[in-house]
Amino acid sequence: MRETGHKPPSSIDPRHRMPDGHASHLRALHRIIIADHDDAPARFQDYLAAGRQILGMSVGLISHIVDDRFQVLAAAGGGLSSGDVFPLAGTYCAEVISRRASVALLHVGTDPVLCVHPAYSQFGFESYIAAPIWVSGRLFGTIAFMDRAIRHAGFHDDDIEFLEMMATAIGGAIARQHADDARRDAEAALAEAARLFSTAFEQAPIGMALVDIDGHWLQVNNAMCQILGYDEPELLAIDFQSITDPAHLESDLHLLRQLLAGEIPDYRIEKRYIRKDGRPIWAGLSVSLVRNDDGSPRYFVSQVQDIDEYKAALDTLEHQKRQIEAANQRLERLAATDPLTGLANRRAFMARFEQELTHHHVCRDSLCLLLADIDHFKAFNDRFGHPAGDVALCAVAAALAAQLRSGDMVARHGGEEFVVILPHTDLAAGRVLAKRLRQAVARIGDQPRAITLSIGITLCRPGAATDDLGRAALIAAADQALYQAKARGRNQVAVAVAAE
Ligand code: GH3
Ligand code: MG
Ligand code: MG
Repeated sequence: MRETGHKPPSSIDPRHRMPDGHASHLRALHRIIIADHDDAPARFQDYLAAGRQILGMSVGLISHIVDDRFQVLAAAGGGLSSGDVFPLAGTYCAEVISRRASVALLHVGTDPVLCVHPAYSQFGFESYIAAPIWVSGRLFGTIAFMDRAIRHAGFHDDDIEFLEMMATAIGGAIARQHADDARRDAEAALAEAARLFSTAFEQAPIGMALVDIDGHWLQVNNAMCQILGYDEPELLAIDFQSITDPAHLESDLHLLRQLLAGEIPDYRIEKRYIRKDGRPIWAGLSVSLVRNDDGSPRYFVSQVQDIDEYKAALDTLEHQKRQIEAANQRLERLAATDPLTGLANRRAFMARFEQELTHHHVCRDSLCLLLADIDHFKAFNDRFGHPAGDVALCAVAAALAAQLRSGDMVARHGGEEFVVILPHTDLAAGRVLAKRLRQAVARIGDQPRAITLSIGITLCRPGAATDDLGRAALIAAADQALYQAKARGRNQVAVAVAAE
């Protein structure tokens, strides 16, 4: 015979109702609920003992059903023990799980279906009563009692109710246990996270600090103390402002205000702190802001890196760069200068000539080119010696340079020959200047012999060719004019017009 559900089994004999049954069941349950058990197994055993006694059954089981497995959480009587696992289908509890309700069986041997049940074949349990255990709204397992004896007396409805109250109490205890476990796990995870953070904070190779909104250090790590040269209590007694180089304070505070106003998410700067020993030290500072849940500022997180050596290396590098630039400029000057006279050399002349021609081409302006050559200089050298010739060359160079307007250029073209560029100059003005140059050289007085100059002059008209050929043609024309000046008796100016 099989009876299920919350209704009292049909075989219950009213004569077996105990007048105080309900009250005694409740007292037993109350005692267990308020008892201070050492652990869950002890609590389970208490339930099973009470159930076996009150229900008059020899075996009690509390199970946890996972998928199709029946795990024994607690067992009393019957040779079963906690940890035993059975296929769910091999247990009477499969009925409880599928019905999701209490089940009571009085005489399994007469039940045409259950008499071939594996649980019956294996254990021979004739009577059985079980209720589902619900934990947080999910079917967790069962509490069941069974006996090899036939339950002639049937089960009282108080018995079912008692069993279901036990199941409810056990479900509540398990739910609380789960909540406790989850809380303990969360606390352990939190503690571990805090431990990891504090280890990372303390052992970080860069300075780390929590700083309050006013700038006082709240927490500093070892590296921060090392960088700033203070020990921890000293740092915690002051604020960052008092150890910031005054020259760097305002820019730092400005960024801090922007951070507080939410205008920037964080900031990074390079700034100088003043160490306790008075030594300024360069640091790379990163600052972010931690806010409370309501958005109000809580504290700053600062990371400080010692970049003093890096800055020093940068300074050295900058110094070396300036030295190299100066050396390069000197070299460039040397490369463009004639060492004897100090005038621009031929290379510098060619560069300037190209530049001026291009400019004059664009501006459609005219320009004069002069070639000047010292007369009979070989004889000068032969008679007064090469060193005296050098002195004379320098004197000529100086005399020429002294006559020029700013913007004009004189260069040593080679040997005792000079070239002059006269920008913005037409032929008439060029002639005047050439004459002045010739006269200036003729006036040089402190030489062993009078020095004269022959000059060839040519005009570069607006729009004339400015490429290599154009330049060569202009120089050739000036050279031609110089040749004429020589041919006509030297110490004079001759003019040639460049072929176009
Ligand atoms: P001309 O009037 O035709 O120009 O005659 P010149 O003797 O000046 O011309 P020539 O080309 O025959 O000689 C140029 C001389 O200039 C030859 C050389 O000794 C001299 N000279 C060239 N460069 C230097 C120099 O750097 N120092 C000295 N002292 N003499 C130089
Ligand atoms: Mg010459
Ligand atoms: Mg000469």
